[in-house]
Amino acid sequence: MLFGVEGLQVTDAQAGPDGTLEVWAVTDYPAAAACPDCGTVSGRRHDTVLARPRDVRRAGDPVAVWWVKSRWKCDEPDCDRKTFTEWLPQVPPRCRLTARLREQAGAEIADRGITPAEAARHAGISWPAAHDAFAAAAGPVLEQAPAPVAHLGIDEHRRGRPRWRIDEQTGEYLLLADRWHTCFFDLSGDQGLLGQVEGRTTDDAAYWLARAAPAWRDAVRVVAIDMCSIYASAVRRMLPGARIAVDLFHVVHLAVKMTGDVRRRVVRGKYGRRGRSGDPEYGIKNLLVRNLEHLSPAQFAKVTGALQADPAGQEIAAAWIGKEKLRHPLNLRARVTGSVPCERNVRDRLFAFCDWCACNDDIPELVSLARTVSRWEDEIVCAVLTGYSNAWASYCAFR
Ligand SMILES: [Zn+2]
Repeated sequence: MLFGVEGLQVTDAQAGPDGTLEVWAVTDYPAAAACPDCGTVSGRRHDTVLARPRDVRRAGDPVAVWWVKSRWKCDEPDCDRKTFTEWLPQVPPRCRLTARLREQAGAEIADRGITPAEAARHAGISWPAAHDAFAAAAGPVLEQAPAPVAHLGIDEHRRGRPRWRIDEQTGEYLLLADRWHTCFFDLSGDQGLLGQVEGRTTDDAAYWLARAAPAWRDAVRVVAIDMCSIYASAVRRMLPGARIAVDLFHVVHLAVKMTGDVRRRVVRGKYGRRGRSGDPEYGIKNLLVRNLEHLSPAQFAKVTGALQADPAGQEIAAAWIGKEKLRHPLNLRARVTGSVPCERNVRDRLFAFCDWCACNDDIPELVSLARTVSRWEDEIVCAVLTGYSNAWASYCAFR
């Protein structure tokens, strides 16, 4: 009863030379003498063997189990098996691990999020054994279909290395395992990561969505994605009733990159070389990246002072103002203002950005950004109005 493995009767327990608990046990299980091939219960003992099944730790310390078990002769004349050793449901034939040790290792990986390598080291088992135990623990959970989700996140995730195989006929490389996966998150509920498929094409994402029940797909109201047309077309194909919200971080990132592109091009045209310290444009390059509201009055004066000197500086200033004009509608989201934004306000501010770009259409980087933004206008407005983004979901799932 204390030892807790059905069919093992403890005959002795003592501390070994190094303090390890040693447990001696014999078999106390009638079915243990049944031949694993034919099922006949044997009455002829052939031999006695000593087995060392691994077991869970006791109070944090390892336990050494010594199991004195019998080898039996099969009594059935037609059976091919001559002899067999006793086995128990907790310790199947040719298995040196007790089932409870494997279950514990699998549960630690699944529930506590430790790696199979760490669980294997702690339990004193091999990595494949720990990984198999994890797969056995995860299987039943993965078979359950996710509950309906109103706000779905789709994002790519890099996992491991790609693996290739050479086609022997053509000599070409074939992709066996893609390093990129597509992940699906529950953004407003508590289900976290809903699913993950290999690859990051439209078909990869659509495949996972197609396997969901039609009622589940109909329940999705908003889908948050990166600014990437691949997932957008998967959503439009499989979830025609859902609205798309793009990650606003990527919108700001594009604007910051555009400002840097203009600065580098203008500096090259002005000096005929890359920028270097001492150039006024170089001295403000980190300030141009910062959000306007985070600049001190002295920093703001430094930027305007550096940029108002000549036409080159004014071109950089126009790009910089464009970046801030694009951030303007994004700052209407409830997380910034504390109140629900009005759609007309968001669209007015987006229009003001596009208007600025049209007034400065001699700056190609600004025009190109305006084209991208107007292509994603509805998705940007949806993100500002709903406030959904993948950033937090990805953080929670892959922390
Ligand atoms: Zn048999």
